[in-house]
Amino acid sequence: MTQKILGGMVVVVVLCAVYFKSDPRDSQARQTYRESHPTKLQNFFTAAVKDQANGASVLLITIDTLRPDHLGMYDYLRDTSPNMDAFAKTSTVFTRAYSTAPLTTPSIVSMLTGYNPNRHGIRLLWQRIDTDTITVVDHLHRAAYETAAIVSNIVLSKKACGLGDRFSFYDENVDEPEANRPEMLERRAVRTTDAAIQWLQNRRDPVRPFFLWVHYIDPHGPYDAPLDAPKDFTHDTPIPVEIERIAEYVREPDISDGAEYVDRYDEEIAYADREVGRLLQAFDTLKFAQPPLTIITSDHGENMMEGHKFFSHGYEVNDEVIHIPLIVRHPLVKAGTNDRITSITDITPTVLEFAGLPVPTSLDGISITQSTSNRIVYAEGLDSGGSGGLHRTLIGENSKTVVQHGRSNIPRDSWRFDLIADPKQQSPLTVSDSAAEFVQLCNLIRSDPDPGGRPVHLAGDQHSHGPVAGNTDAETMRALRSLGYVK
Ligand SMILES: [Zn+2]
Repeated sequence: MTQKILGGMVVVVVLCAVYFKSDPRDSQARQTYRESHPTKLQNFFTAAVKDQANGASVLLITIDTLRPDHLGMYDYLRDTSPNMDAFAKTSTVFTRAYSTAPLTTPSIVSMLTGYNPNRHGIRLLWQRIDTDTITVVDHLHRAAYETAAIVSNIVLSKKACGLGDRFSFYDENVDEPEANRPEMLERRAVRTTDAAIQWLQNRRDPVRPFFLWVHYIDPHGPYDAPLDAPKDFTHDTPIPVEIERIAEYVREPDISDGAEYVDRYDEEIAYADREVGRLLQAFDTLKFAQPPLTIITSDHGENMMEGHKFFSHGYEVNDEVIHIPLIVRHPLVKAGTNDRITSITDITPTVLEFAGLPVPTSLDGISITQSTSNRIVYAEGLDSGGSGGLHRTLIGENSKTVVQHGRSNIPRDSWRFDLIADPKQQSPLTVSDSAAEFVQLCNLIRSDPDPGGRPVHLAGDQHSHGPVAGNTDAETMRALRSLGYVK
């Protein structure tokens, strides 16, 4: 562990302590929801989904930049999510769901393909998906599904990511300038829900199964919920922050109280929740030939002053930015919380299974209906700004291993967390160079077609392929360590 990392960890501990002192999550009252909700369901399917699920229509809701621990069903004390909490009472709430990247485009492409970023090739914003990469939408078309998407983040526009070409209907009417950077466009939740409801009501064939994906942008910074947002959160104890440390597009020049940013973030969640509730209400009035599958999740989280990171996401793999909510509702799924490890890549195989379609064995994701043991999921954070801080992680039941490397494929540093002894991940441990996860990550980095994290395909037809290197075995790693390349 380098001095630099250790220094960073000291900051992590101190600032976490400050933040959590006034954190609504620390109240005893958080148990209320748990007490009325069964936990740790092992067999949470009422029957074999393969036998019974077939042709289910799917509503997939993603809410950008949404941390699970700021939602009621994940024990947040503030009433940010009454509508989603009500939905969760008849759903399975996955407590250990992870994104593959703390960034919209790579994460969403993982969700819609079932592949990790090193396999689908999208590492940064504004990269377009390869035309020969198969998405869940392509599979569903072959089964005569009607497919539609309503997106509200400009990086998900057809031109920016290429996903729109896969859907039979793609609403990218994203035209409201962001508060602090007018060149970035978004669409607020009220219009997103209006568009989704309109599509549901205007479907040409009400009997045909459909796949509708609705992406909300609102909790993404800057945190400026509309005046009619349902909640107005306040706090008693200010948390002074150096304003220069706050991401520029989130920063309000006259606000240096970190707790106020948290209030405003929560107000955005409450606003999105109101609109998700309105969409769910409209969806639940529809008549279906088969019971529908409904999923609520997020593309990534947000740093809320933990460590040295203030109201941002995008580059690293700390849980605050890669841990996501995942809530799944279907009559074959028992309501309750489930602590198995899941990945955003699991959504594609899950949808295929409930549609009654075969699940390709090549996917990185696993349907939530399939039993797993010793599951390990992957995530990465690649800095598009060129600082050279690239982080890759493998997360298992009991431990999380991180390898950092620069714009080469040679690991620079590594650490791990014992998730049993240190669930808040405040005490990084040394990684043995023979540890399975470490070797696996090094192999992945070396065999990655884009090991420096540069985009394989940039929008605008710029190509930047890195060399495909061979695998790195333990012996090579020892040699690299002896040369000082790897700690
Ligand atoms: Zn995002």
